This record gives sequence, structure tokens and C-alpha cells, in this order.
Amino acid sequence: MILKEVLRQGIEILKTADIEAPALEAGVMLCHVIKRDRTFLYVHNDYVLSEKEYRDYIGAINLRTQGKPLQYITGRQEFMSLEFAVTSDVLIPRHDTEILVEEVIKYAKREWSSKVKALDIGTGSGCIAISLAHYLKESHVTALDISEGALRVAQSNAEKIGVVDRINFVHSDLFTRLETEQGKGNVFDIIVSNPPYIPSYEVEELQVEVKDNEPRTALDGGNDGLDLYRAIIDSAEAFLAHHGLLAFEVGYNQAGDVSKLMSSKYYDIKIVRDIGGIERVVLGKLKPL
Ligand code: GLN
Repeated sequence: MILKEVLRQGIEILKTADIEAPALEAGVMLCHVIKRDRTFLYVHNDYVLSEKEYRDYIGAINLRTQGKPLQYITGRQEFMSLEFAVTSDVLIPRHDTEILVEEVIKYAKREWSSKVKALDIGTGSGCIAISLAHYLKESHVTALDISEGALRVAQSNAEKIGVVDRINFVHSDLFTRLETEQGKGNVFDIIVSNPPYIPSYEVEELQVEVKDNEPRTALDGGNDGLDLYRAIIDSAEAFLAHHGLLAFEVGYNQAGDVSKLMSSKYYDIKIVRDIGGIERVVLGKLKPL
């Protein structure tokens, strides 16, 4: 089968299944299967696919029409200009989350000239923890997750990106295992988290790609979506240095509630919007006792 025909065929199938960007996605899947980059598609559109390549490609296209996200098919997603492997054990990193990481990096450079100890709660693919370690060269990061599968993905990402030496991976439900591992008390300059924040009743209304493919534990934030913020804010101060930074990504319409939850213990609370103008990040500093 000749590349340009195969490409056209994939585009047609995706179009019929109402996939939003059929040409782009068919191209990405084809590149993935034949292990070439995008320019190859234009320069060698007469390339002849092997039978296996063709089969794998059509297999990928079919998975996509069944609602499997492209990133789980190719097994990767770019985040903060770094490449992350993703599996169905982890949430696919979102570009909105880059706002959180950028804010934390700016803050760390300003306050501690990048020499920081940070904790990422619910690290998933490790995108936040690893980006912090990569862009803050003198930092030490603890990445924790309740999912062992996620930690395996995060650890292997850290190895590939070359920051595994400065990241400590901990299997823990929020802070529970951290107490025994770290010894309790004021250790981190920064605690950061993009916790699950979708209200339980809304999870079923999410698009198929998300609700049937991404891990529920990474999405469901309880009745009002705020369970994890409450739990983290309740315990964070025992692990934060004086004037340490607590930084969250929040879901739609949650910034006000999360700021309120933080307000008795934190000061300089700031809300940052994403490129779509939606309040996306809430951060604040721990009040001294
Ligand atoms: N920290 C990871 C991310 O931002 C996972 C977040 C989650 O699973 N809720 O992508």
C-alpha cells in the first residue's frame, strides 16, 4: 500500500467517525507506525508500507474511532517542550497545566534562586515534577502518587529526561506515607498539585475520550470536585517551610472556592488565568505561625 493512499484512507475513516482533525491525526498515527517524522509524509508520499505497518496503522485508526485518545495510541505527549510517555495509567498532560508549572518556576527562581525542595502530589505521568526538576537545575523534587502504575510511568519519564537523580518517587495516598519517609515537619519550599477535580456527577458527562480512557482516580474530585483540595490544604502546612508556596491547578469555576479554603492559613493568594481566560491556577504562601 502506498503512503498517500493509506493516508487518504485513514483520513476518510476518521472523518466518518467525526474526529475533529482527521488529517492531522491520521498523519500522526502513520508517522508513529512507520517511525518517521512528519516531513517524511510529504517528501516520500510514494513510500510503500509493509503489510505489518499497514495493519498497525489501520488498527490505530480504528482505536481512534472508538474514542481512544491519540496520545494513548502513540504513547506520548509533549509538555513544557519535553516528551512524556503516557499509558492508560496516567492522565494525559494538558497544556493548561503548563501555566501552573511556569508560575512555580518563576516563583522559585525569584524567591530561592532555583534551589528548592518541591513536592508534587498526584504526579501521574510526572509532567509537573519532571518539568520542575528539568527547569530548576538545583531543585530536589518528591513525586507522589496513589497509583503504582502511574509511578512507574513517571519514573521512566524521569530517567529518559535525565532528572531521575533529583526526584524521589513515593507511593502514597496524599501525605500518609510521607510522614514515615521524610520524618514529619517543614521540609518543602513548594507543594504543587493538579489533583483530580471533576465533580463526581460530571465525570459521566465528559467526552468518551476522557471518561472511558483516562484513569478515574485522576479525574474524580468527589461531590463538589474539591475533596482533594480540602485534604491537601488540611495537611500541607506540616510539610511546608515557613512562607512556603502551595500551588494548585483548579477546574472551571473553582478558583474562588480554593482561594477561600486557603485563606485562613495562606497569604498573597494569587489566581492566574489560562490562555482561554479561565482561572486555572491558585497559589499562596504559608502564613508564619
Ligand atoms: N500531575 C499530573 C498532571 O498534571 C496528573 C494529574 C492528575 O492525575 N489529576 O497531568
